[in-house]
Amino acid sequence: MDFGDTPAEAAFRAEARAWLEANAPAKGSPEAFDHMSSPGKSSELERALADRARAWQAKLAAGGWACLDWPPEYGGRNASTVESIIFEEEQSRFGISRSIFMAALDMAAPTLMAWGTDEQKKRFLNPIRQGEIVFAQLFSEPNAGSDLAGLQTRAVRDGDVFVVNGQKVWNSYAHLADWGILLARTNSDVPKHQGLTYFFVEMDSEGLDPRPLRQMTGGAEFNETFFDNVRIPAENVIGGVNNGWAVAQTTLNSERAAVGAQTSVVDVPTLVDLAQKKGQAGDPAVRQALAEAWIRSEVLRYLGMRVYTALSQGTEIGPEASIMKLLTGDHIRNTSQTAMELLGPEGMLNDDVWVTRMVSHFAHTIGGGTPEIQRNVIGERILGLPREPRADKGIPFRDLKV
Ligand SMILES: Cc1cc2nc3c(=O)[nH]c(=O)nc-3n(C[C@H](O)[C@H](O)[C@H](O)COP(=O)(O)OP(=O)(O)OC[C@H]3O[C@@H](n4cnc5c(N)ncnc54)[C@H](O)[C@@H]3O)c2cc1C
Repeated sequence: MDFGDTPAEAAFRAEARAWLEANAPAKGSPEAFDHMSSPGKSSELERALADRARAWQAKLAAGGWACLDWPPEYGGRNASTVESIIFEEEQSRFGISRSIFMAALDMAAPTLMAWGTDEQKKRFLNPIRQGEIVFAQLFSEPNAGSDLAGLQTRAVRDGDVFVVNGQKVWNSYAHLADWGILLARTNSDVPKHQGLTYFFVEMDSEGLDPRPLRQMTGGAEFNETFFDNVRIPAENVIGGVNNGWAVAQTTLNSERAAVGAQTSVVDVPTLVDLAQKKGQAGDPAVRQALAEAWIRSEVLRYLGMRVYTALSQGTEIGPEASIMKLLTGDHIRNTSQTAMELLGPEGMLNDDVWVTRMVSHFAHTIGGGTPEIQRNVIGERILGLPREPRADKGIPFRDLKV
């Protein structure tokens, strides 16, 4: 198989590159916003970077380059898998970050496409594509991360609204978001997976309070989010009451694939440049590490194509997303370690991009599901190994000791 561009793909790449060169900020330019998640930013700078990201998404939409693979009725171009990948590859050369839109584009939108009513799709998809809505994912809780179905935030129906009380945590960009995707318990009398409902909630709702958490990188893009009698209209339920677990699977699979696809966070040629600058490109151990990094990044690229193909053929993303997620975590950790060895004592300085990558590699590994959980998925769904023993199977949630 030949993975090079066909003449038509090469023409598409040239068109995309020309548009990006004319419109996108260069890396390191004053207009760049690829340092969205870098440490130590003031909240003013963070908001300014978020505004630039919104403006960029609007520009992409106006130019016909946003959400290329969406159907035309929602503003896409029905672009092929390969075209979408080509555009992402080209875009990653510029001073752009998609991170603030990840929950909107890679979680809320695919979930809406699969589960939303026509009205919900009309209401949200176009504004998402145009960068008008930033979403946050409000799933994890202090006692429910890997065991997400054990969550305790409750939503109680009161006529046409649900009243929500509880606490979420690790909610990326919740303090900057307009809307949240929320998983809450609506029935405690059934086993834990069966009593959950998936909502869209406005982040400026009364009683909803996201509070940023400072991380070891110095950044504070995570939040703990409190719900105190937050009222959500019943029309904001996605996919049916008590059907939230099935709906959330669409979100989680898309999230894993998106986190896995973030290979652009490690630019192997930049690592090669660093080895050359440090005069160590001839060292056999360094050459070995660079070759391994290159091989891993190519494997990830091809896995990414497989995931995009599944998406473009309308197939749900399956456990291959777990392989990508796992491998991406290893890739970021190993390349960061190589960079730190090349930098030596200089690596102690906190303003180097590789230092930020090193201390934030845990984020990429854990976010979207830990390595152990990905291995469980691979063991059970790909290798056909026996399922993990579950002590809570068939037991109503209210009878569990949580
Ligand atoms: C960068 C980043 C971004 C995130 N963004 C969001 C967000 O926007 N919204 C949101 O809701 N959440 C978010 N999270 C939270 C994330 O989904 C959870 O951290 C993750 O699911 C793990 O849950 P936990 O932290 O509670 O760890 P736990 O589930 O408590 O796990 C602790 C340890 O036990 C292991 N473990 C647990 N269960 C098993 C098992 N069955 N078998 C083997 N080992 C097991 C885990 O692998 C881990 O090593 C984010 C996290 C990160 C790091």
